[in-house]
Amino acid sequence: MSNLDMKPPVAACGGRADVTAEPVREVLEARHMPLGESTVVRRLLPNLGRRMVGAWCFVDHYGPDDIAGEPGMQVPPHPHTGLQTVSWLHEGEVLHRDSLGSLQTVRPRELGLMTAGRAIAHSEESPRDHSRLLHGAQLWVALPDAHRATAPAFEHHAELPHVAGGGLSATVILGELAGAASPGTTYTPIVGADVTLAAGTEARLPVEPDYEYAALAMSGEAEVDGLRLAPESMVYLGCGRTELPLRADVDSSLMLLGGEPFAERIVMWWNFVGRHHDEIDRARTEWMSGTGFGEVHGYEGPRLEAPPLPPTPLKPR
Ligand code: MN
Repeated sequence: MSNLDMKPPVAACGGRADVTAEPVREVLEARHMPLGESTVVRRLLPNLGRRMVGAWCFVDHYGPDDIAGEPGMQVPPHPHTGLQTVSWLHEGEVLHRDSLGSLQTVRPRELGLMTAGRAIAHSEESPRDHSRLLHGAQLWVALPDAHRATAPAFEHHAELPHVAGGGLSATVILGELAGAASPGTTYTPIVGADVTLAAGTEARLPVEPDYEYAALAMSGEAEVDGLRLAPESMVYLGCGRTELPLRADVDSSLMLLGGEPFAERIVMWWNFVGRHHDEIDRARTEWMSGTGFGEVHGYEGPRLEAPPLPPTPLKPR
């Protein structure tokens, strides 16, 4: 998915100043953002109160939307640099195409992991014969300086490890949880998991004290460390935990996102993650001149134009 905002704000992120060393429960409310003509997504990161959780730097939650008889998701070809994108679905399908020639339908609880590295372009669309409901999340992971110029890549993992017990079932999307490790390539100590809680479940999930965490409500209403969490919000949990208490009175699901606090300062603008203004400017110029990102074949319709850069230079803080 893309940031389709035509006046994308500059997000200066990273650095440890905002990281809470102790466990906290900070509620982050979603902003509603239009995506294309008919879709509205809930943006949880970056958020006014918090820009990153570990290397996670962008989180959109969308649906469940009834797209019967409609085109559904239609995100034209657009570029990325310096990040990985994670496509995660609870309902429906997304057809991914990229400038490496990848053509992949991503289905519920399968991982579509695209490493932009130095440069990639992709499109995402609901296939023509799509399901009635579309429900999922689009997430970005910032690449550390040592790896952000890596070669672009796309991975699809239909089989992911599970952790289960006492009404809790978790799929490990990235990183490792309770001894189960995702096959997805990572570049920083990070974890992403999809956690399902059956009605009446009370569980404690083992977590890493050195990681900061957040939980995003996908459906139902779960209690995360005693805090009731429903879709439209995410809770930032800070660092310093060894386990996370979870309970639910109704069938619920959430995404647990965590990682070692990302120490590098980054600049995020439109679909690019960089370190300074000139780099973002160069990526934008290359995209607009049709160089540097390759071609996405097979998408019906024009590619996305980059919005104008803001008049004042982008600065990491
Ligand atoms: Mn994208």
